[in-house]
Amino acid sequence: MERFDHAAQLLNLDPGLYKVLRNPEKQIIVSVPVLRDSGEVEVYTGYRVLYNTSRGPAKGGIRFDLNVTLEEVKALAAWMTWKCALVNIPFGGSKGGVVCDPTSMSMGELERVTRRYTASIIETLGPDSDVPAPDVNTNERVMAWIMDTYSMHHRHTVTSVVTGKPVEMGGSLGRREATGRGCMIVTREALGKLGMSLKGARVAVQGFGNVGSVTAELTAKEGAIIVAVSDKSGGVHNRQGLDIPDLLQWVREHRHIAGYPKGEQISKEAVLTVDCDVLVPAATENVITRKNAPHIKAKIICEGANGPTTAAADEILEKKGIFVIPDILANAGGVTVSYFEWVQDRGGYFWDEDTVNRRLESIMTRSFHEVMGLVEKHKVSTRIACYMLAVDRVAKMHRLRGMYA
Ligand code: GLU
Repeated sequence: MERFDHAAQLLNLDPGLYKVLRNPEKQIIVSVPVLRDSGEVEVYTGYRVLYNTSRGPAKGGIRFDLNVTLEEVKALAAWMTWKCALVNIPFGGSKGGVVCDPTSMSMGELERVTRRYTASIIETLGPDSDVPAPDVNTNERVMAWIMDTYSMHHRHTVTSVVTGKPVEMGGSLGRREATGRGCMIVTREALGKLGMSLKGARVAVQGFGNVGSVTAELTAKEGAIIVAVSDKSGGVHNRQGLDIPDLLQWVREHRHIAGYPKGEQISKEAVLTVDCDVLVPAATENVITRKNAPHIKAKIICEGANGPTTAAADEILEKKGIFVIPDILANAGGVTVSYFEWVQDRGGYFWDEDTVNRRLESIMTRSFHEVMGLVEKHKVSTRIACYMLAVDRVAKMHRLRGMYA
């Protein structure tokens, strides 16, 4: 909200609209009773927050994690609102989460949590009202259960109620890679601004889930040298560059990076401060803090995760002259291809992968350069420029629609 306030001030947002945009439209808390395999009943807490729907249906992922709180989901829903506006796709912003530990649950338990949570929030869901997608610890399998549960209640198949589905059931080609591909595209553009290119750039990636692993893979394909990677289990460092397909194979077999032999073992925190040109935090919130920010050596930070940098760290990075590609721009490739998926489902006409990638490329590069335009015009940080562009678009929609009172 600090960043929103700053942008609102620079945009001269009128006080009424400021108050409207500072609050989420709707917050839902549900209890999700689930039968464990042991026969016991467990009750989990689930949330869904619709932050703003002025520009279109609410859009945002669902995470399953023990750290989920209402405050976190609210922040993530706000970020989705700004993210969709920033890349100019016709969606509002939302987010959902269930407080649970998916690593301790069987497939059956995971399915029952997903279906019961979906049923509990079913009134808000819908292709025209609120469209979930994958986020931390959820994937296309979970999206398939959401689609099926919603469709059973509606007595007909509704593919466009959720995105990030398996391709066989109305998912989009290129969606799985989309967030990482978007990170690669904006990193390439940022390097270009510094007179560098992906070829030979040294990249460190924190987090090796869907976003981190694909970013590493695609930047390496463009000639980048991946010098360090980490996940929850630890990190691995290799100045010569890691062989990403080989590391991916290791992770498929061993589930974790820890123990990977072709590099030096380092702590997962150390990945953030290794010598590199580009740092990609691609895990969760608040990992770049006032404590470690002074030690970051990267020239560019590409925020693959949502909210990886604290507001206090922002100032330090700015003073150090680090080029930050803020989350709501850097990781917007995911929701952009979610938009393509929703369009394809509604049209019942599916695009080939090249078309998806080409259209993603055009939206990401356009948005990057729009942000850069604002940075130069207003002499603000890239982060504030992103917020100015996004908040202004949402505000314009509110002004045009007027207030229903
Ligand atoms: N969870 C992703 C994000 O934070 C994707 C959201 C979506 O595709 O709706 O951007």
